Amino acid sequence: MSVLLVCFACGHQQQVFWARTEQRICSNCRARHPILVRNERAIGKRAHWIEWADKPGIPARDAYVKTHGGLRWIQEMRNYKLMWIELKFLKIFGFLATDDIIPLFSEAPTAALMYWVHRDNLEWRRHKQADERADQAYVERVDERISDLLPCFMTPEDWGVKL
Ligand SMILES: [Zn+2]
Repeated sequence: MSVLLVCFACGHQQQVFWARTEQRICSNCRARHPILVRNERAIGKRAHWIEWADKPGIPARDAYVKTHGGLRWIQEMRNYKLMWIELKFLKIFGFLATDDIIPLFSEAPTAALMYWVHRDNLEWRRHKQADERADQAYVERVDERISDLLPCFMTPEDWGVKL
């Protein structure tokens, strides 16, 4: 039983045994966390850019340039800060892009890179929401404690306490 690892940076595809997937680094361009497809049916809507097969992928250096250009395209479209490109590039490859890698122009990202960015955004939002929920729970607990201490005619709102 094997799964398919699809690199969103260089297009390298490799069927691997389940046990080996904890490595989750592209053996061609070293991008982290390639997309994992559990079986052929799981490709689903992604069939226009993933097929169940091994593929060599483009050379690593080309993958750096292409990924940087694709990130820049997304950054321009979405009006993100320039730093966003560098942070995502670092997250993907584990090093900052050097001048010889950074292309002059942005380049429409591949479906695979778009998918990665989408997945990364979801992950970020989940973390943020978890943080907010933790904050909210803390505020509610403090509110309860304050209510116990307040004279009965005053509510926490009256104090205007921003905790
Ligand atoms: Zn790769």
